Amino acid sequence: MRVKFVAGNWKMNGSHAGNAKLLEGLLPALQSMSGFDCAVCPPYPYLAQVRQALRGSRVALGAQDVCAFGNGAYTGAVSAAMLGDFGCSLVIVGHSERRALFGDTDAGVADKFVAAQQAGLMPVLCVGETLAEREAGTTEAVVARQLDAVLDKAGAAALGRAVIAYEPVWAIGTGKTATPEQAQAVHAFIRGRVAARDGAAAAAVRILYGGSVKAGNAGELFTMPDIDGGLIGGASLVAEEFVAICRSAVRH
Ligand code: PEP
Repeated sequence: MRVKFVAGNWKMNGSHAGNAKLLEGLLPALQSMSGFDCAVCPPYPYLAQVRQALRGSRVALGAQDVCAFGNGAYTGAVSAAMLGDFGCSLVIVGHSERRALFGDTDAGVADKFVAAQQAGLMPVLCVGETLAEREAGTTEAVVARQLDAVLDKAGAAALGRAVIAYEPVWAIGTGKTATPEQAQAVHAFIRGRVAARDGAAAAAVRILYGGSVKAGNAGELFTMPDIDGGLIGGASLVAEEFVAICRSAVRH
């Protein structure tokens, strides 16, 4: 049985005052719980504030994106080595907003995945189909393409030291959640695809569901056999919601 993992993606939200309030609401409650892993991923300018607040807590610090290149002449970018040096332990790669709005390609995401692991960070690899792709019946083909780019570049064993987040694009920030059965079907497909190359990696990899997860639907999602937790966007900005989602992760 894999330990559940709940990660908050704050996206491009926050302020010093707002973050302090959110963390005050989160940390005492999360400290009193156990039996699951937990992380928050604030925007870069707030990593220092959040690192300070998380000191001595059970909550890991992550970033939302990373540059695929090593340190050098890449103005505006942040390397995996810098994130590791700073104290991040994980980084999201291939979020659908990066793919759709910032031109991240499957190959570029695979490069970020490899750069993250080389720097000792755990990549959280996001995959997922758009509504048009689901309606066209190509969900598995799309997810397979996104996953295979990483399997081919990083090797299947590398997935055993990573996290995958299945995030159907039509469910992100829309209030529409995949049903537990819909999500489970894709999670099982993803695990099967990894298993076809490396059984141990498939057994180890945690596959999170993301897309309008809230306190009210986390429990039923987390009961599914291949759903190992959640990547939480909007609800990670509301302390009571995020804590309640984490509580669901303990129960299952
Ligand atoms: C996300 O940003 O990864 C996400 C799943 O967002 P939301 O929970 O708001 O749908």
